Amino acid sequence: MPGSPEIVPTATIPGAWRRTARGAGLLGEDGTIAATIFAEMSALAARTGAINLGQGFPDEDGPIEVLDAARQAITDGVNQYPPGRGSPVLLEAIARHQRRFYGLGVDPGTEVLVTAGATEALAATILALIEPGDEVVTFEPFYDAYGGLIALANGVHRTVRLRAPDFQPDLDELGAAITDRTRLILVNNPHNPTGTVFSRETLELIVRLAERHNAVIVTDEVYEHLTFGVPHLPIATLPGAFERTVTISSGGKTFNTTGWKIGWLTAPAALVTAILAVKQFLTYVNGAPFQPAIARGLDLPDSYFTGIAAALQGKRDVLERGLVAAGFAVSRPHGSYFIVADAAPLGYPDGADFCRELPALAGVVAVPIGAFCSPEHRPQYASLVRFAFCKKVDLLERAATQLAALRPASR
Ligand SMILES: *Cc1c(COP(=O)(O)O)cnc(C)c1O
Repeated sequence: MPGSPEIVPTATIPGAWRRTARGAGLLGEDGTIAATIFAEMSALAARTGAINLGQGFPDEDGPIEVLDAARQAITDGVNQYPPGRGSPVLLEAIARHQRRFYGLGVDPGTEVLVTAGATEALAATILALIEPGDEVVTFEPFYDAYGGLIALANGVHRTVRLRAPDFQPDLDELGAAITDRTRLILVNNPHNPTGTVFSRETLELIVRLAERHNAVIVTDEVYEHLTFGVPHLPIATLPGAFERTVTISSGGKTFNTTGWKIGWLTAPAALVTAILAVKQFLTYVNGAPFQPAIARGLDLPDSYFTGIAAALQGKRDVLERGLVAAGFAVSRPHGSYFIVADAAPLGYPDGADFCRELPALAGVVAVPIGAFCSPEHRPQYASLVRFAFCKKVDLLERAATQLAALRPASR
């Protein structure tokens, strides 16, 4: 079974970590960090042989050019520490990619940084840019690493809730959440777990609010090439945004190489320098032979990028049809690997309980949306569950058929 950063074993946290983890609600009464629902669901999938649509990793390899380039780099001896900012071939390929797809000009020498996945880019950015007590605003539900990283940096996490069925934010709530205490506005677009793609209006409001309150915008755009019929709009392209935005992405989702952990960020030189100062003490560098391979991927023709979006859209449609046929209320995603379904119409008001029963009911594993929420907001998302559709079509068809057995009429 592939590993996952989402899996945390039950363990006692020592020393200085205990205080931050408790502050973030990551610790139980007994001072141990609980096994996450992700670990529980993956173990359940392994034990029951159910189709695992819980974890978001692809079950097929990516482009052969990229895989071959990594093999070749190892053969060619690209096996020692690369430069601290990243291999020049990758820095240049990232700059070319930003220009080709978005018309953004970035200097590969000063405005680009290669990281150990988008995760390290997020960690180094948050650790570098906030002081203890500074507020970081995210949407909620949020990618689970955000809460942990903000806590490790002793920041205060404020959220703006996204609500079913369309999961677009209320712009008044967004305006109220961002104040002079806000240091970072962290935006994941396209959004995991909801599959929402934020409107231009929302993104423009974020830029105006950041300007008004002198906040830095951090965008997590790892699904930038996986949108369905809507364009991806990087915040950094909006007027006034580039000079206060850190744009983060990764090769994992675009090239089906989630295990390689090659990510990057682009930002004005002063921000990159501040983030590099932290990054050098986290991993220093990573993945020497994978860096030129991801550079090869970023230079693939446009047809590759349109092709992966079209293929994934087809997979979304297969799973969506199955979920609708089963009787779920489904929120159609416009990007990402994920679809959110409401189990309440099937008679299951609690998504976590439902996910525990789902392997026995339908031979499928999903995760409750509550896993992406702070404990106090979980009740608002109680009956929602997330299914991943970054899987082979025949597997999704099998899952869809099995899920049809849930229809109340057929029980
Ligand atoms: C997968 C994912 C990441 C992690 O990316 P890595 O490159 O594997 O570190 C970050 N953010 C979101 C929203 C993701 O879904």
